Amino acid sequence: TEEVNAKIKINSDEEISKILKACADDFKIFRKTSFEVRKNLALTIAGILERNKKRYAEVITKEMGKPIKQSLYEVEKCSWLCRVLAENAEAWLKEEEIKTREYKKSYVIFQPLGVVLGIMPWNFPFWQVFRFALPALIAGNTCLLKHSNTTPLCSSEIERIFMQAAKENNLPENIFRKIIAKHDSVAKVIKSELIKGVSLTGSVEAGSKIAEVAGKSIKKVVLELGGSDPFIILEDAELEKAAEIAVKSRMQNSGQSCIAAKRIIAAYSIADELKELIIREIKKLRVGNPMLESTDIGALANRNQLEIAESMIKDAREKGAEIEHGCRKIFEKGYFIEPGLISNLSEDMRVLREELFAPIACFIVARDENEAIEIANASDFGLGASIFSGNTEKAEKLAREIEAGMVYINAMVSSHPLLPFGGIKNSGIGRELGKFGIREFINLKTIAVK
Ligand code: NAD
Repeated sequence: TEEVNAKIKINSDEEISKILKACADDFKIFRKTSFEVRKNLALTIAGILERNKKRYAEVITKEMGKPIKQSLYEVEKCSWLCRVLAENAEAWLKEEEIKTREYKKSYVIFQPLGVVLGIMPWNFPFWQVFRFALPALIAGNTCLLKHSNTTPLCSSEIERIFMQAAKENNLPENIFRKIIAKHDSVAKVIKSELIKGVSLTGSVEAGSKIAEVAGKSIKKVVLELGGSDPFIILEDAELEKAAEIAVKSRMQNSGQSCIAAKRIIAAYSIADELKELIIREIKKLRVGNPMLESTDIGALANRNQLEIAESMIKDAREKGAEIEHGCRKIFEKGYFIEPGLISNLSEDMRVLREELFAPIACFIVARDENEAIEIANASDFGLGASIFSGNTEKAEKLAREIEAGMVYINAMVSSHPLLPFGGIKNSGIGRELGKFGIREFINLKTIAVK
């Protein structure tokens, strides 16, 4: 709507220091709690989310413009994560014996580190925070959140959820706190000896800067950065299904998802038919007021996002790309783009080299499977990838050749609470979710007895 939603005060460095100190003090108590206590905390959080999901969904949509039904799903996904962790985290953190000839007994234990700082983006303002914070908390850490300045109201709501759940479980009140901070204050926080790890979800640029500061003070980092995921469709794929899922993947969150199918790579023999099917799917999408249940595509999060997308489309057009459908700003007010498809692309175009955060798919044709893999790997990113084929055995072989942290076959890339999530190359360092994710912010301690 381009209207002001709220005005939020930025925390001073003194205020931030106080909050951080409170999180560090409460860690000393929280680290000694049993798994049972933390499990109940996760279940209480799940209950709060489920009871208030409509209200949280409205805050998300008002603040960053995604369609209300997707906001609702995002909140539901957070409570699903709580329940999965309550059920599985104890087993994931159970000590493991490692037999040696030299020691009578040797094993590893997983202990919490302290306060973990989460620096989070606006695009999934609840999910990204829960995905970092819940595993860290259930492992016994406490959390400090620096949310995106696009979504400060979400950050306040989330803090209230954790504080209420802590109170209901007789836990210290500062196991999860948020700060509203400028970037130079964040650098000071990272350098503080009270911070033991940093989890950033955001752009490559932010990742590089945060990792530099954290590296200087030898802090563990997990970086979940951008992506330009390939979505390969081979000639033996079920084409209608593949087109439907490619569009769903590309257009979710109004095109602002790290794991969207940003580059659709089609086998030569099916390319024309597939392109028509994709355009047909795109035309079905209803763009408009994100507060309406019927809306599929809302507004982009802010003016900056719209301007970046427009300049990338202009760059592609000037270098010879063909706009097959959509790709233009619509409606007088608000940051809306008509979902679209671009073809006839070349590697020097920004839409292929950078991360296009808008409801626009890039369509590329490959001569054969080998070329499809080559195109898929010709990116600085390496987050996820999809392969659609009637021959899953062949697809599994090709999956091994793809430079990415995750490959989904006959499915879109998604984040599942039990499966590790993360990328390689410029898409990041480390993993979130599942058994591997929960072990990022812990001290894996070796104990050997002679
Ligand atoms: P962003 O990089 O602009 O900001 C992310 C967070 O980092 C924000 O809280 C921001 O304030 C903070 N930040 C940025 N620069 C900083 C600095 N110099 N010092 C301290 N803090 C800094 O990203 P965004 O626009 O909010 O989110 C979109 C990006 O996030 C996209 O690139 C998207 O692909 C990525 N993302 C990745 C994943 C993943 O899991 N890999 C998931 C969601 C989003």
